[in-house]
Amino acid sequence: MERRIVKTQVGIVGAGPAGLMLSHLLYTSGIDSTVVESRSHETIRTTQRAGILEHGSVNMLVDSGASDRVLREGHRHDGIELRFDGRNHRIDFLDLVGESVWLYPQNEVFTDLAEARHRTGGDVRYSSSDSSVLDLETDTPKIHFTDVDGQPWEVHCDVVVGSDGSGGICKKSIPAEHRKDYFIQYPFAWFGILAEAPPSAPELIYAHSDRGFALISQRTDKIQRMYFQCDPNEDASTWTEEMIWEELQSRMGGQDGFHLKTGRIFEQMVLPFRSYVCEPMRYGNLFLAGDASHTVPPTGAKGLNLALADVKVLHEGLDSYFNSKNSELLDAYSDRALQRVWKAQNFSYWMTSMLHQHPDGSEFEKKRQLGELSSVVSSRAGSSYLAEAYTGWPLK
Ligand SMILES: Cc1cc2nc3c(=O)[nH]c(=O)nc-3n(C[C@H](O)[C@H](O)[C@H](O)COP(=O)(O)OP(=O)(O)OC[C@H]3O[C@@H](n4cnc5c(N)ncnc54)[C@H](O)[C@@H]3O)c2cc1C
Repeated sequence: MERRIVKTQVGIVGAGPAGLMLSHLLYTSGIDSTVVESRSHETIRTTQRAGILEHGSVNMLVDSGASDRVLREGHRHDGIELRFDGRNHRIDFLDLVGESVWLYPQNEVFTDLAEARHRTGGDVRYSSSDSSVLDLETDTPKIHFTDVDGQPWEVHCDVVVGSDGSGGICKKSIPAEHRKDYFIQYPFAWFGILAEAPPSAPELIYAHSDRGFALISQRTDKIQRMYFQCDPNEDASTWTEEMIWEELQSRMGGQDGFHLKTGRIFEQMVLPFRSYVCEPMRYGNLFLAGDASHTVPPTGAKGLNLALADVKVLHEGLDSYFNSKNSELLDAYSDRALQRVWKAQNFSYWMTSMLHQHPDGSEFEKKRQLGELSSVVSSRAGSSYLAEAYTGWPLK
């Protein structure tokens, strides 16, 4: 079949939070875009991932006119609990830094952004295949893809944005000599579950225990999300419900008699994680955003928020480039975005190393972690750093 051509200003690969939010922001600035996405709308809508939105991410959704549903249906959390030595220690965000976060699942963010793009006539090609990016060093970069009906297409644009997640094609299309990859692998993973149960606590609990880390998180009044640290090679299918609840409860035990509310588990998976950054976030007329350029361990709840923060900076650059014919901000995109990326990398690494048990960890290391946790909760300065980073540094 002959390749059909679509002309646009910005060609975007990936309709995750980064790609769709960028497409929406560009629309508000009168800039045309086409989004090419390999998964179906339904698959993305029903895939559970991140759940915590920084206040800056909430403002982006609301102030851009995408949706204010998060304010009505999301749950505002004014703090988290750090649990160690068998009891909770609250980090009060509102008191410490005057900010909050919102529990609002990533698939709801997707629903809002997809609906906003639909409402405003956005060009989003779901269920596409065989996508590739080419001529990136030229003024006429392109995206090739095949649509859901088998029709091959070529997107002609001025700029390509790679927001195609950690396994995408865009980053790989940058020649190795033009990018530097920084990464570390962790010797543990998260065993994650979704369960039909009432919430066990009103806010997230990050627990340090002799048996390893656990996170008690919520989704809705009837569905809960929980994790516990496990070996990266753990086979999730070998765990029965009883074993999972017992393991989680054993990590939450303590003098306060805290007891988890249990129920039917309908999803269980092992989530390996690593810290990764690709620098710079630009090659020719290809710009990377979100997980396509960096991934963080989920302990700091930064992945989705960082993707949206990249897009805010990139939108400013593209707006100035297309509407004021000034490329200064666009040229500064990578450096500007990377400042926040490395702060988030540090925070995610810090939370992870403070709360998880290293498989080769010594008794000294466990005691040192408890000293660190105690320093954080007993000092306003220590708690404030956590609160400021968790709720999100200001989006300038
Ligand atoms: C299982 C799981 C659980 C997670 N849990 C958390 C959490 O609890 N907290 C947290 O902060 N973060 C979490 N994350 C990370 C968070 O989901 C990501 O940081 C966030 O989705 C990044 O958004 P993005 O738009 O950059 O990338 P993505 O959401 O990954 O979107 C990229 C999109 O590009 C599409 N794509 C990929 N390749 C192509 C291609 N060749 N052509 C066209 N389209 C393509 C993909 O289908 C995808 O829809 C989790 C991630 C996973 C995988």
